[in-house]
Amino acid sequence: MYSDAVKVLKEFTLKPCPFCGGIAKIGITSDYESYYHWAKVYCTECFVKIEGTPSLDKDRIEDFSDEEKRELIHAWNMRYGEVE
Ligand SMILES: [Zn+2]
Repeated sequence: MYSDAVKVLKEFTLKPCPFCGGIAKIGITSDYESYYHWAKVYCTECFVKIEGTPSLDKDRIEDFSDEEKRELIHAWNMRYGEVE
């Protein structure tokens, strides 16, 4: 089910894109030549992105652990000068 990614998004709100202010989403990238997949957080406007570790045995966003998605979301939400 796709509920895993949705659950993470509800738990952790993605900040808007730091470059264009666009809406950010969590998704997956595939490399069809190497068969690697990796989770990513990306901007739906300018497509800037941050990516997780490539994996050969996961091919859906649901296959990536909550921990990996949390790390990506945390990295996306980090802004210069903001203290945690
Ligand atoms: Zn953007």
